[in-house]
Amino acid sequence: MNDDIEKVLITRQQIAQRIEALAQEVTADLAKIDHDGEVTLVPILTGSIIFVADMIRCLPQRMQIHLMSVSSYPGTATTSQGVKIENALNTVPQDLTGRVVLLMDDILDSGNTFRAVTEELKKRNPLALKTCTLLRKQRPEAMSFPIDYVAFDIPDEFVVGYGLDFDDYYRNLPEIGVLKKSVIEQHA
Ligand code: 5GP
Ligand code: MG
Ligand code: MG
Repeated sequence: MNDDIEKVLITRQQIAQRIEALAQEVTADLAKIDHDGEVTLVPILTGSIIFVADMIRCLPQRMQIHLMSVSSYPGTATTSQGVKIENALNTVPQDLTGRVVLLMDDILDSGNTFRAVTEELKKRNPLALKTCTLLRKQRPEAMSFPIDYVAFDIPDEFVVGYGLDFDDYYRNLPEIGVLKKSVIEQHA
């Protein structure tokens, strides 16, 4: 385990197992929609990249991937600083007519990110819009937020690893863990 990690919440083996099951759930659910079988995946950058990389290899559908870049925890912030959709890394078509869109993010916390991005995508007229998160924090705002697919519910703590960062570090940790308070305080 990395020295900066207080405790591991979810191991790489638990993640791998859960992703296979979740992909099956998503596949069965999308099959109920009357459409051509194709899916347009929209990963929210940067935190979802590892989740998406693992998930798409368990999804058999014909698929396009279009990126959406959003930041709310810039730099060393551990609380949301407001949702900002970045235009530079946004490759989502303006017109999503007829498409079944699967929006994927790393974590559902206040819900502000999913809310801002779903509002934006709905304006583009998709046939269906489904939402998927790797993690959901066990706090009222997150637990009551409407979301289609959740891989794991976790305690309301600031987590890193498996794509999730602190100051853009720790994304490459293969497990999901809680950072030591001393590490966060050093940057405060
Ligand atoms: P929300 O908009 O739901 O409050 O937060 C979603 C975004 O905030 C996530 O996409 C993620 O980038 C960031 N975030 C929220 N909680 C955490 C956390 O515990 N750890 C990390 N690394 N990022 C978080
Ligand atoms: Mg994010
Ligand atoms: Mg971040």
